[in-house]
Amino acid sequence: MKDSFNANPRPHFVIVPLMAQGHMIPAVDMARLLADGGATISFITTPINAARIRPIIDRIHNSALPIRFIELRFPSAEAGIPEDCENFDLITSENLLKPFVEALPLLCPQLESYLQQSSTPKPDCIIADNWHYWTVEVARKFGIPRLVFHGQSCFSIYCSTVLRRRKMLDEIEDDFQVFELPEMPEKIEVMKAQVRRWVDSPDGYNIRQMFYAGEAAADGIVINTFDELEPWYIDSYRKKAIGKKVWTIGPLSLYNKHVEDRASRGKPSSIDGGVLLQWLNGKTSNSVILVSFGSISRNAFPQIIEIGYALEASKIPFIWVVKEADSAAAAAVGDIETDKWMSEFEERTRLTGLVIRGWAPQSVILSHEAVGGFMTHCGWNSTLEAIAAGVPMVTWPRFGDQFLNERMVVDVLKVGVAVGVKLPPTKVVMAAGEKGLRVVRREEVEEAVRKLMGRGEEAEERRKRVREFGVMASKAMEDGGSSFHNLKDLINFAASHST
Ligand code: UDP
Repeated sequence: MKDSFNANPRPHFVIVPLMAQGHMIPAVDMARLLADGGATISFITTPINAARIRPIIDRIHNSALPIRFIELRFPSAEAGIPEDCENFDLITSENLLKPFVEALPLLCPQLESYLQQSSTPKPDCIIADNWHYWTVEVARKFGIPRLVFHGQSCFSIYCSTVLRRRKMLDEIEDDFQVFELPEMPEKIEVMKAQVRRWVDSPDGYNIRQMFYAGEAAADGIVINTFDELEPWYIDSYRKKAIGKKVWTIGPLSLYNKHVEDRASRGKPSSIDGGVLLQWLNGKTSNSVILVSFGSISRNAFPQIIEIGYALEASKIPFIWVVKEADSAAAAAVGDIETDKWMSEFEERTRLTGLVIRGWAPQSVILSHEAVGGFMTHCGWNSTLEAIAAGVPMVTWPRFGDQFLNERMVVDVLKVGVAVGVKLPPTKVVMAAGEKGLRVVRREEVEEAVRKLMGRGEEAEERRKRVREFGVMASKAMEDGGSSFHNLKDLINFAASHST
């Protein structure tokens, strides 16, 4: 690897992502974009997380982009969590959630010691996920600016700001009450239970308060979105909520031009790339629906079979990513039931469907012309990747910002069909087989799929709109586009603080 760190006048960003797929994936994209644009990067990670993205690290090293991956030891022992629990998606029980979060600030001494080493170029700017609020102190110590990275939509961030400022959730007693969000340019209705955890910390945590304090202390905000997608919300957040510099630099996924880059995002794929492409190439344009629910939320067995029967009955070609049926994972947690049912299902639907047990190269699939729909949990990365690829969605939110993202997709952008789920699960992290969700019946799932993939006027209108957003997304990232411009400005900002 060519190490362009020595005697390098390029501004040096230190990127500290949350160890969760939905945060690490865009952070790696951001690191590459910044490095490509003239910056030098230290990317903070841990051994297990680095091992997962080894192919992408190797590709970066071969391309001579000046990005150093710094593997800090994850402080599992100090926090009282299992040794290999270094990523949100490795948390196997709700009880481990709090200690995992508490382990994060314990990374501080290691980060400081790395930045003090004489072989490390002087840092010019920290970009930290808002879960790493403790980096406020690191930035202060080194006398450099610290920016918060939000991997969420500006819509969901702005809604949470308004709810908090007006203390609205305190005034609503009933968790099931549906209410209209104030100050919005369109009618947005949510249920308290859908947004409670997004606005306030769950009992016994003060993590959200830490986020807000970390955001208030930040020198600016970087968001994975683009101006043309949600102009009113970006403008309002910038002027009315945060009152500081906001750089919108997305969709970050579009940085991945080569199929190898897209294929190695997150984790090694559970399906051979050739087999996948051959399958997709055999399907007509816009005929396939991708069904996948991100890296964290799990479906219990009764829900899995309802989704399966719905896809089978619809006769619509599908790719279904079933991480619950990853053979190794299923064996480890004893989810033999799912494993067995899936095998029979795969046999029956061999001609129309492709099941991926484990991790799928999602952005490769979404950008293939055969794909015409996406059933998603509305994680912001998945949502933005679908928009960037011009693919309409069936929305099926689970927790966090996802219910708000659903409102954005369905009510604001009008590029999705809601499956109709109203309540979040009782837990964020569900063990295999746990029943924390109301089961959405197969008829409801099938109806949403048919509506999305159908040829009616509404469906065509959705398709047209999302394609238009896709074109805007590409333009934003091209030379001269809004995100391109903001990225340059961000690099200049760090350079102007370089001493
Ligand atoms: N992803 C993927 N393959 C999978 C599942 C997820 O590549 O099988 C990627 C997806 O493209 C996205 C990220 O993982 O970039 C998930 O982030 P998101 O915000 O959508 O959801 P989360 O996993 O954080 O709930």
